[in-house]
Amino acid sequence: MKKRLVIIGGGASGITAALYAAKICKSADITILEKNDRIGKKLLRTGNGRCNITNDNACAERYLSPLAKASLEKFDVTKTKELLASLGIVLKADNTGRNYPYSESAATLLNALLANIKAAGINIISDFDVSNISKKENRFIIQGNKSISADCIIIAAGSPASVKNYNADKILESIGAEYKKFRPALCPLPSEESFLRSLKGVRAKARVSLNGHCEDGEVQFNEKNISGICIFNLAKYVGSPTEVNIDFMPEYSEEEIAALLKVKQQNSLEAGELCDGLILRKLALVLIKKAGFKPSQRAGELSDKALKSIAKQIKAFKLKVKPPADFSSAQVCSGGVSAEQIDAASLELKTNKGIFLCGEILDVDAPCGGYNLQWAISSGLYAAKNAAKYLGEQID
Ligand SMILES: Cc1cc2nc3c(=O)[nH]c(=O)nc-3n(C[C@H](O)[C@H](O)[C@H](O)COP(=O)(O)OP(=O)(O)OC[C@H]3O[C@@H](n4cnc5c(N)ncnc54)[C@H](O)[C@@H]3O)c2cc1C
Repeated sequence: MKKRLVIIGGGASGITAALYAAKICKSADITILEKNDRIGKKLLRTGNGRCNITNDNACAERYLSPLAKASLEKFDVTKTKELLASLGIVLKADNTGRNYPYSESAATLLNALLANIKAAGINIISDFDVSNISKKENRFIIQGNKSISADCIIIAAGSPASVKNYNADKILESIGAEYKKFRPALCPLPSEESFLRSLKGVRAKARVSLNGHCEDGEVQFNEKNISGICIFNLAKYVGSPTEVNIDFMPEYSEEEIAALLKVKQQNSLEAGELCDGLILRKLALVLIKKAGFKPSQRAGELSDKALKSIAKQIKAFKLKVKPPADFSSAQVCSGGVSAEQIDAASLELKTNKGIFLCGEILDVDAPCGGYNLQWAISSGLYAAKNAAKYLGEQID
């Protein structure tokens, strides 16, 4: 009788694990169990529907986790592109190294994956909500609202990011796998600053720093939060209420900005008009108020010290933020099964041989730009390779 490899979760990681396992396993049936009515739902939302699937700059060092090294080295970006090309999926990169399917459509990418799944004879059992794994006579019993047995398991159940009713933590508890509490990452930062109301809709390029981390990019101001890729990348570093420092003119010093303001001061302007040509008016009005001046007062009346304090606001605008708590607006989570629980050389659970993990359920996350899907894919391929070995396949 053929052995059975069961993959729990039909996301980016589970799908790539299944396709690779089907390619290298001669003596095993491959089955994906998916809680939703179909697989790949999250994939459709990635990259605003375009799916930023990888990044030419992805390498193990980007992931700051000992778990990432083996997978990313064995299945690096080049190897991933070759494997995707063998499935008929061609990528193209933009000038920052972000790669998208040539069609720039996540839907066509998923269709191509589904066609390959069908051709490879991979079974999909959808609406299967797994909550428990146990062992009986050397076989795993996987249970939830349905039941199935397996010789080997890959858990690819993702994280609670942008998922309603995430429950894969129950699966982990059933097998005694310890995990770090999931926390939203790559997400907006909530703030209760009252001035945000007047900044609603403003987008400004800036250098943002918090808790010793720094990112350049576009900050988007909303009524209850700030967002934008640079904010998303910093969100995971906010564990308790803290202050964000925003520099709206990073190429200039405070003194240089004060000098620019002084030149403009000679015209018969209002203070609120002083920053026109440097930063957006809506922003300037808030900065000037924060510096302690009325936007309607004559610019000519402002002292050098006053100009310096406006320049200081442009260079070091402070905004109080709170730790993100909303999983629904998160693209990924930090947390998950940690390196201590996993044999990094195989992605196998140390305490439960025959169970491998991949993708976001592991405590690995990365910045925006295609790095998270690359991790999902590299770890999916790597887990599949080691699961195949566990099942007795001869693989180098
Ligand atoms: C809006 C959005 C945009 C994004 N854009 C990008 C992007 O452009 N580039 C990028 O690199 N990353 C992006 N990401 C992140 C990326 O999508 C994830 O890192 C990646 O999908 C993780 O893959 P995964 O297979 O580990 O988990 P998932 O894709 O979450 O898949 C897990 C699967 O397991 C299933 N499952 C969960 N629990 C159970 C259970 N108990 N029983 C059975 N099945 C279960 C889920 O239903 C799901 O199908 C984005 C994320 C979001 C939310």
